[in-house]
Amino acid sequence: MTTVQGYNPRTGEPYGDPLEATSDTEVDRLCEAAHSAYETWSGWSAEDRARVLGLVADRLDESSETLITVADTETALGVPRLTTELKRTTNQLRMFADVLREGSYVDAMIDSPNMDIIPPRPDVRRVLRPIGVIAVFSASNFPFALSTVGSDTASALAAGCAVVVKGHSAHPNTTRETGRIVTEALTEGGAPEGLFSVIHGTQSGVRLVRHPLVKAAGFTGSIGGGRALYDLANSRPDPIPFYGELGSVNPTVILPRAAAERPAEIAAGFAQSVTMGVGQFCTNPGLVFAPSSIVDELGKAVTESNGGAMLNERMCDSYRSHVEALSTNDLVSLVATGSAPDEAWAGKPALFSVPLETFTANLEKLTEENFGPSGIVVTYTDVNDLLPVLAKLPGTLTGTVHASPSEHKEATAVAAELRKIAGRLIYNGWPTGIALAWAMQHGGPWPATTNAIHTSIGVPGIYRWLAPVTYQTWPDELLPPELQDANPLGITRRRDGVLGKH
Ligand code: NAP
Repeated sequence: MTTVQGYNPRTGEPYGDPLEATSDTEVDRLCEAAHSAYETWSGWSAEDRARVLGLVADRLDESSETLITVADTETALGVPRLTTELKRTTNQLRMFADVLREGSYVDAMIDSPNMDIIPPRPDVRRVLRPIGVIAVFSASNFPFALSTVGSDTASALAAGCAVVVKGHSAHPNTTRETGRIVTEALTEGGAPEGLFSVIHGTQSGVRLVRHPLVKAAGFTGSIGGGRALYDLANSRPDPIPFYGELGSVNPTVILPRAAAERPAEIAAGFAQSVTMGVGQFCTNPGLVFAPSSIVDELGKAVTESNGGAMLNERMCDSYRSHVEALSTNDLVSLVATGSAPDEAWAGKPALFSVPLETFTANLEKLTEENFGPSGIVVTYTDVNDLLPVLAKLPGTLTGTVHASPSEHKEATAVAAELRKIAGRLIYNGWPTGIALAWAMQHGGPWPATTNAIHTSIGVPGIYRWLAPVTYQTWPDELLPPELQDANPLGITRRRDGVLGKH
């Protein structure tokens, strides 16, 4: 029997009983149950789905103490961070409940008939509809906000889809406990049985992504894992969309006058951002382009910073060997290291530097993501030398600029390059920390994601699980309410090209 065992990263000891990996037969049964639940759930009103999402959020909040204790033991992310993350997760569910009540997410469009134009136009009305069962692959580094009932699950349930979650092997007890609370809350809210379920074990994820009733997948994790599952999704007889959030180096450009005017503030912000969550953030600013004048200050801040236990042994080994390889690499210089507690899988902060010319000549080697609290400072003299290099960087989730008010011209030139490779551009801030909002984009060109035109965080994440349908010349009473003439839901629609509540 294959099992999945949780561990305590602070001690390296097993935590909790091993969980039995989900069999192929059970994965099939859960997908069938999810499909049947989708047939019912997708017909529920947006208001009813919103009520149930709110109930799930409330029940998770009520169990916060247990959830946080289990997650802290299993991930070592710490109680303060996990408290915020769980609140973010329940607020995310409530955000999607608000989106359902507001209603415009269905993107309703109505065009009146006109037989006098070429080609003639009959009455056509378009609306977004939920697509079916969604496979969700939990992230290791956000055991709540990007896991069992994280942004993929919340947005898919909101859209009217059913969800089967493949739990991450790094936190099986957190997954099981969260899954139990979500299932109970859904039952309490009257949701159809099987709407949401959780599976364990690497093979179960393979079975899931190939299951004929699964219509799309959401994934957060490594480039290798994401690519393997993406290829499986595409090699099905009926390929399905696979939305993977993968790896990112998150370039940060510190312009010369900003570096001269506020070196201590920038250095403190960098050290805090690069070590947050022991650097296990996909938005970690791992690559900094800066004048050499600020390198000592950055090094001082990193020296004063602390690491901690990393999420699992594999991640810790990979981080340590990457740091070791850089430390013995002639191309880069070690600037500083921070401290780390005496814990089993602890990662220690580290900062390296390299001149721009050397970096450019070895771009592929030096832009490999090192998941953990380390960074490389690429030193430059003239911003004009930097611009062509930025354009050559791999796709990334974010790009950041630190500028003084007198450097707006340079900041604009840097942004013009960064926007070709990044999904979110930050001015005088840091990329870690992602707001929950309509205007959020958490995505970017490969290898940041497998699909740069979508986001996995924020309201527009819901569009991954919806497909448009056009109704042509249907009687009004047979149309979905979102498209009926009287606009019974009172939502914003595009009617004959004009947006409004008409
Ligand atoms: P991972 O190893 O890719 O695992 C993610 C999920 O994919 C797990 O459920 C894993 O199953 C499954 N999986 C991995 N390889 C597979 C394969 N070949 N076939 C089938 N299933 C497979 O990710 P991770 O452990 O979280 O590794 C951390 C990496 O993720 C970091 O390098 C970081 O860059 C990236 N990351 C990115 C983001 C983002 O938003 N872009 C966020 C967090 C992490 P098991 O659990 O059973 O192994």
